[in-house]
Amino acid sequence: MKIIVVGGAGYIGSHAVKQLIENGDEVIVIDSLETGHRESVPQNIPFYQVDIRNKEALKAVFEKETVDGVIHFAANSLVGESMTNPLKYYNNNVTGTETLLEVLIETGVKNIVFSSTAATYGEVTEMPILESTPTSPTNTYGETKLAIEKMLKWTHKAHDLNYVCLRYFNVAGADASGTIGEAHTTETHLIPLILQVPLGQRPHITVFGTDYPTKDGTCIRDYIHITDLVNAHILALQYLMNGGESNIFNLGSNTGYSVLEMIEAARAVTGHPIPMEIGERRAGDPALLIASSEKAKKVLGWTPQYTDIKYIIASAWKWHQSHPNGYKGE
Ligand code: UDP
Repeated sequence: MKIIVVGGAGYIGSHAVKQLIENGDEVIVIDSLETGHRESVPQNIPFYQVDIRNKEALKAVFEKETVDGVIHFAANSLVGESMTNPLKYYNNNVTGTETLLEVLIETGVKNIVFSSTAATYGEVTEMPILESTPTSPTNTYGETKLAIEKMLKWTHKAHDLNYVCLRYFNVAGADASGTIGEAHTTETHLIPLILQVPLGQRPHITVFGTDYPTKDGTCIRDYIHITDLVNAHILALQYLMNGGESNIFNLGSNTGYSVLEMIEAARAVTGHPIPMEIGERRAGDPALLIASSEKAKKVLGWTPQYTDIKYIIASAWKWHQSHPNGYKGE
């Protein structure tokens, strides 16, 4: 396959690029480098530093490169920031994707795999979450991703453009090589924050609330390893190229871990006591999020392999230990 990965220099995008190259696919990367890292993409593949809102520059790339499909990761993805600066999210995520879709239609690209999120569901009481579970986002980030899903649905009806939306649960871990991983300027995710303690970068981890209606009072999430996640994207693109109908799939591991269980697992992996403090609830955090990924397994033939939480944390630990400051200094 010849594929353009949009947002290919981010955490998830860079793992997809690596996997595609290893599979023997031809890969072209577009990334604005607003939050991505040039160092996370091999130097020997075509790389275009283009913002998806810049239609002229974007179109020039698609006119030059004829591809079988696109995997689209480019977005702002901080839930907290999306609440204080919602229009930034509408502009980059929604307007940017609208521009991208115009270019795809004008240049005859027929297949797109889109990076969506479990944040499209919002507060859900019945677990596990199915693709048919009603969507009602509780933050702007999830709302913009849902708006894009709907934009894809209507665009598909009007044009020869097929899509798969993948709703991620909690993506975590790093490639087994330890050469690429999560490196956000503003880190908000649980596993990297926990690992900053044994790295000596923070004194303790704060648990956001212990009064949730869960077994130990802390939030439960469904963690999915990055390698399993990117494999689902590749299967989704193959599915579209084989004539599969446009579709939406959840990607999770169908298993939930509490914040306390995650800290305990990280202690076991790192051998560090990882002190913790109990803090307030974080606004907008649902108590429980667990996916049913049966549909992706059945329709795409996807089988997650790295479901052991200690493996997930150990792979992240390998990356963070060897790159305590992310890509800085590379
Ligand atoms: N969390 C926590 N302390 C932190 C960061 C996160 O207790 O310093 C909790 C958070 O409340 C949530 C879970 O860890 O229940 C996962 O949070 P993360 O931001 O990694 O992912 P989210 O589920 O928000 O997408």
